Amino acid sequence: MSDTIFTKIINREIPADIIYEDDSALAFNDISPQAPTHFLVIPKKPIATINDIQPEDKELVGHLYWVAAQIAEKQGFAEQGFRTVMNCNEYGGQTVYHIHLHVLAGKPLGWPPYQEKLKV
Ligand code: AMP
Repeated sequence: MSDTIFTKIINREIPADIIYEDDSALAFNDISPQAPTHFLVIPKKPIATINDIQPEDKELVGHLYWVAAQIAEKQGFAEQGFRTVMNCNEYGGQTVYHIHLHVLAGKPLGWPPYQEKLKV
């Protein structure tokens, strides 16, 4: 499988506005922000989708949430609140096949996140 754009960011082959890095994760601002604050937290290990998470990845995936909370605290929006989203495959709206946690903050966010009303 060829590298995704996120592996290229991890390897510094393309630029990104990196705001956090440790041994297993990286966070950088989204290139097309959907809220005043919008960044992505990704594992350095390339896992394509939520469906591909293995038992040995469970701690790593939990770590992404911990990183999100650390950045929220540091950037000062933890108390106000924020949203995390991880899209999966076509219907989930996933476009980059390397799992990533979207972190959106800085304004009240609507719910539900889609416009169309559910038909029963
Ligand atoms: P998703 O649609 O859930 O797969 O989200 C992919 C996200 O990656 C989108 O919000 C894009 O704006 C973002 N994105 C794509 N390329 C880059 C990039 N080079 N730097 C930062 N964010 C990116």
